[in-house]
Amino acid sequence: DSEVIGPAEIKKMVPFLDVSESARYPILGALYHPPGGTIRHDAVVWGYARAADALGVHVHQQTEVTGIDVAGGQVRGVRTSRGDISTPIVLNCTAGWSTLVAEMAGVRLPIQTFPLQAAVTEPVRAFLHPVVVSGTLHVYVSQTDRGELVFGASVDPFASYSTRGSLEFAEGLAGHVLQLMPALSKMRLLRQWAGLCDMTPDFSPVMGGTEVAGFYVDVGWGTYGFKAGPVSGEAMAECIATGRTPEIIGAFGLSRFGDGFLVGEKGAAAVGH
Ligand SMILES: Cc1cc2nc3c(=O)[nH]c(=O)nc-3n(C[C@H](O)[C@H](O)[C@H](O)COP(=O)(O)OP(=O)(O)OC[C@H]3O[C@@H](n4cnc5c(N)ncnc54)[C@H](O)[C@@H]3O)c2cc1C
Repeated sequence: DSEVIGPAEIKKMVPFLDVSESARYPILGALYHPPGGTIRHDAVVWGYARAADALGVHVHQQTEVTGIDVAGGQVRGVRTSRGDISTPIVLNCTAGWSTLVAEMAGVRLPIQTFPLQAAVTEPVRAFLHPVVVSGTLHVYVSQTDRGELVFGASVDPFASYSTRGSLEFAEGLAGHVLQLMPALSKMRLLRQWAGLCDMTPDFSPVMGGTEVAGFYVDVGWGTYGFKAGPVSGEAMAECIATGRTPEIIGAFGLSRFGDGFLVGEKGAAAVGH
């Protein structure tokens, strides 16, 4: 569904982009993906929660998993801040915290947690319809329906559980965004934040069972797991319900790191990691 377009067409689509030859990194072309888009992530998550609730799923908010009981190589239950739950099945899908939860079951994951920062500007009248991503400058820009511009880049260069924004990031981001769209120089950033990303050595997720019977993982999505939520959730539900690994996730098992069959996906998020 994608097509390569040249500077003239890019300029027509995004007039504020600097497509001049004097730009530091001249834009010679772009990969245009018409079906692409943005979503309101909080609305989507509430949508999932309501739909799950309607199907009889109990969502326990403000409840921390503090331990996982394993006996004889089999999951027996989960300890939480609000009581214990007896269960033979646990799916660990805790992204940036996934190694901590896996450790509770005695499972080691080849994952490191890195902060990924983003920022939004004050709102302005709608002028930017596509999402613009630069693989050279490692930034993306989109505009929300409230008019704010959303900026993001690659993960912080060090492993950490910090969710604070940094001045270093804001400065680097602003510099790169202005190389793309110099006309934004008067806009002010309203806020910035960071989320935690679960990064694997091959930048691909880890899905399926583990050496502990009943302990499953759907982790390691790093910087691009939101769009993959529905399909990975469906595949994991099938995996758990049938006891068989669906073909679509077959290559993403935890054992690949021991067997040496990595699935290189470094380019998957478009901005560099
Ligand atoms: C700034 C930023 C921009 C991003 N942009 C994109 C994008 O454009 N497209 C895209 O596809 N992805 C994007 N991502 C990545 C995406 O957000 C994640 O990959 C995705 O949200 C992971 O979903 P998840 O359900 O696996 O985990 P999460 O949504 O992180 O949920 C994990 C949950 O586990 C809970 N938890 C952790 N520990 C415990 C515990 N001990 N007990 C109970 N609960 C626990 C946490 O509170 C959290 O609610 C972005 C991430 C960030 C930070």
